[in-house]
This record gives sequence, C-alpha cells and structure tokens, in this order.
Amino acid sequence: MSNHLKFYTLHNYRTIPQISSVSDDLIRDVEIVGRVLPFKTNNYVIDELIDWSNVENDPIFTLNFPRKGMLEKKHYGTIEKLIDRDASKEEIDAKVQEIRLTLNPNPAGQEHNVPYLGEIKLKGIQHKYPETVLFFPSQGQTCHAYCTFCFRWPQFSGMNELKFAMKETDLLLKYLRLHTEVTDILFTGGDPMVMSAATLEAYIRPLLAPEFSHIHSIRIGTKSLAYWPYRYLTDKDSDDIIRLFEDVMKAGKNLSIQAHFNHPVELSTKAVEQAIGRIRSTGAQIRVQSPLLRHINDKPELWAEKWRKEVDLGCIPYYMFIARDTGAKHYFELPLDKCWQIFRRAYSKVSGLCRTVRGPSMSDDAGKIQVLGVQEIRGEKVYVLRFIQGRNPKWVDVPFFAEYDPKATWFNQLKPAFGEEKFFFEEQKSKLKVTKPFLFE
Ligand code: SF4
Repeated sequence: MSNHLKFYTLHNYRTIPQISSVSDDLIRDVEIVGRVLPFKTNNYVIDELIDWSNVENDPIFTLNFPRKGMLEKKHYGTIEKLIDRDASKEEIDAKVQEIRLTLNPNPAGQEHNVPYLGEIKLKGIQHKYPETVLFFPSQGQTCHAYCTFCFRWPQFSGMNELKFAMKETDLLLKYLRLHTEVTDILFTGGDPMVMSAATLEAYIRPLLAPEFSHIHSIRIGTKSLAYWPYRYLTDKDSDDIIRLFEDVMKAGKNLSIQAHFNHPVELSTKAVEQAIGRIRSTGAQIRVQSPLLRHINDKPELWAEKWRKEVDLGCIPYYMFIARDTGAKHYFELPLDKCWQIFRRAYSKVSGLCRTVRGPSMSDDAGKIQVLGVQEIRGEKVYVLRFIQGRNPKWVDVPFFAEYDPKATWFNQLKPAFGEEKFFFEEQKSKLKVTKPFLFE
C-alpha cells in the first residue's frame, strides 16, 4: 500500500487494479448511478478496507461505490436509456439535475440555520443551537472519499446554490465576538481535514486569542481517520497538524475530533490505530459517530463490536444517527422501530464505557430527536421521543409521544399520539425568527 494519496472518480476508476475482478453488472451500475450521486474514493479504501473477494456484499465497497438500488428504478431506467442511446452530455446533465432535485437535496431545513451579521448572510455558518456554531471553510468542502449516503451530497455535485461555505475568517471572528453565548465551534464540511495544515491553522489559530475565552471547545468533524489515516502520519504536513492540535490544547481549549466510522473494518488497520494514537498524544479527544445504514451496519453485533473497538483505541462512542431523509435514503433507511431495536440490543451487549453513545437520533429541523423506545400507554402503542438538542433549549429532555407507525423512517412521517393535533413544540417553531436561527418572535 502506498501512502501517497490517489483519488478515483467516475473518470478513472477503471484503472483501479482490483476492478477487473468486479462483474459487468456492478460496473454498469457505477456508470449509471455515478452520474447522479457523487462518487470518489481513494487508494487506502481500495487497498486496505474493501474485501475484493466479496464486493457484492462488502460494506466498504457499498459505502464508496454507487450501487443500483441507490437510485429509484424509474430514475435508473431513465439514465440507462440516455446512456444507451448515446445522448448528448447536455441532455444527460439536464436529466441528472432534474433527478437530483427530487432527492431532497437540502434536508432538515439547513438554510434556516444560516445567520446574519447585520445585512450580511453568513453562508458558511450555521447557528442552530445557542452554544454551538458550525463553520464550513470553503477549502474543506470536499472529502477524501464520498460516502454514498451523505446528506451533504449536493456540496459535491456542483449544486452550488445549495452549498454552505465561506472563507472569510474575519466574518466568523466578528460573529463570534458578538455571540458570547457560543462555547463550541465545529469545523465541518465536506471534511476540514482535506485542508492543508496552514489553511486549517489560519482558521483555528485566531480562536486561541484571549478575546475568544468564551470558546471552550473546538471540534473538527472528519472522516479522515477512516478513509485517510495517513493525514496524521505521513502526509507532508502531518507534523504541522499534530503541532496545531497540541497548541490548541496548550491554549486551554478542548479539542474534539468528531470522527466518522461506519463499520468496525474501518477501525482495523495499523494505520488507523497509529493515527488515533498520534492524535490522542496531543491531548485531543476523539468522539465517534455514524448513521445506522441498511446494507452497511444494520446488525446489533456490528455496533457492539464497533463501540468496543473505539473504547479499546481510546475513542469515545458518541452518536448513532438515523439515516437522513435525502439522497439514496430509500436504499439505506430502516423503520424507526428497527433502529431502536438495533440500538438497544447493541447497547445491552457492551460495558458502561461504551454507553457514552446516544441514539438512535434524527437531526430534524427542530433539533436532534432521539427515539427512546416503543411503549403501550393506556392501550395506545406509541413512540417515546425526546430532544437531545432543540432550537429552543427548553424543549430538551422532555419526553413526548408519537403514534406508532411501523413503516415510519423519519420524524416528519410521525403524528402526535393520544389524538393531539400538534407536537408540543410546533407552535413555537413556526415563530422562528428568520435572521436569528435560534430565537423566536
Ligand atoms: S466524509 Fe462526511 S461529508 Fe464527506 S461524504 Fe462522507 S459523510 Fe459526507
């Protein structure tokens, strides 16, 4: 395995040496589905993570390569016909765009989270919960490889009108000076760890100044540990990254790497073990999160194994998310009841050190809603839910109830239980101020 990063996309994936072992049908699916959903992978995923003797069922192949079921039959058929009759690029592109717009490219009303600085709309910031600001640095809006389930897929598909990004550190700093209620800043993407150490440093270093003493935690959301651990080991600026992490810790901030691992295989290589060790040696913490995905990790045993491995390596299990209502959702989604069953079975198999994990949780427009379970109350079968995070902090941790629906896969498919017309927070949510994402009229 070479630790020189090499990317593969729709244009060059046929040069992957192992691809000759893949069936013609799978290749055809990549060609068709890869036109609509973004596709990119790299030599580490190819050489160290995918089991090429079993690609039909391999979870890492499915996480990286477009598969037939990821498009609805009618959409698959439409693109297939266009390719077969050698349609022009313009004709295919127009159809692709039309299909993408049907895939809910902007889930959870993310544009509601974009704040203003005076008259300026800050397209690279989301501020949904008072204490946490998300920042999308322009140079970090791509990834080491694209996950086929990603809810940020429009960012990688040239749908620029739906892209959240900015590079003006000044505006971020001005915003944070005014918002002293913010304690946490999350650098997100894409993947901020695709940026050079120098670029990352230009964003982070100013936050270490005394005027930002209200910022206690700097978080970085990243898939790099799973898909390019050499970022922390042998890239030409790996040492600079590690030094930056050390400096953040020395400045008295908490640095939390929000690592994204979907399957225990991603935690099994020597490189990932060393990369985790190197990050932890700086004092930074690594918290691990992942969605629950059909075809990938829909077994309690896999989650229990993953959480145990995380703890063994010194990481903190953090979230099990429910697959977002966007992109290829129909391929990955599971009914809420099944999600809860998988969570509780996995949770019951692990020790208390793994039980830092929370879930299953939906990142809905109103907040992070956890499925606490299914119960029968006064003869009615219901989902018991709670907000882990809410646009209004007063909503957090209050149990509430929805009618049981065995097919529901997302919160917007649920109705309030016990004949109520609305959920307790809906009235207030409708009064959200447009320019202040977490304040109400
Ligand atoms: S690494 Fe994260 S942002 Fe990038 S494709 Fe995967 S889920 Fe999406």
